Amino acid sequence: MEKSTKKPAHPLRFYCAIFGHNYEMTKKVTSHVKEYTCTCCKHQLTTNGNGKLTELTPKYQEINAILERIYSRRMLRLKSQSLTSSIC
Ligand SMILES: [Zn+2]
Repeated sequence: MEKSTKKPAHPLRFYCAIFGHNYEMTKKVTSHVKEYTCTCCKHQLTTNGNGKLTELTPKYQEINAILERIYSRRMLRLKSQSLTSSIC
């Protein structure tokens, strides 16, 4: 009998430890802040206020969610401004 249902959570973490993570961008929060996820072990990073990469902690997830809301609202306003410039 094969036991294929129970796999370790991060089978490739060992690979990452040796060769380094293989991050890909998973979310664009703003034009400066992005979130990255390692395709091997699903470790997440984000850009912090200094433009450096840091671990995506719950605190940063919260910050990014707020940033995203502000950013998308601003983008929306910019878009509607250019569309309705003749009215305003
Ligand atoms: Zn990794």
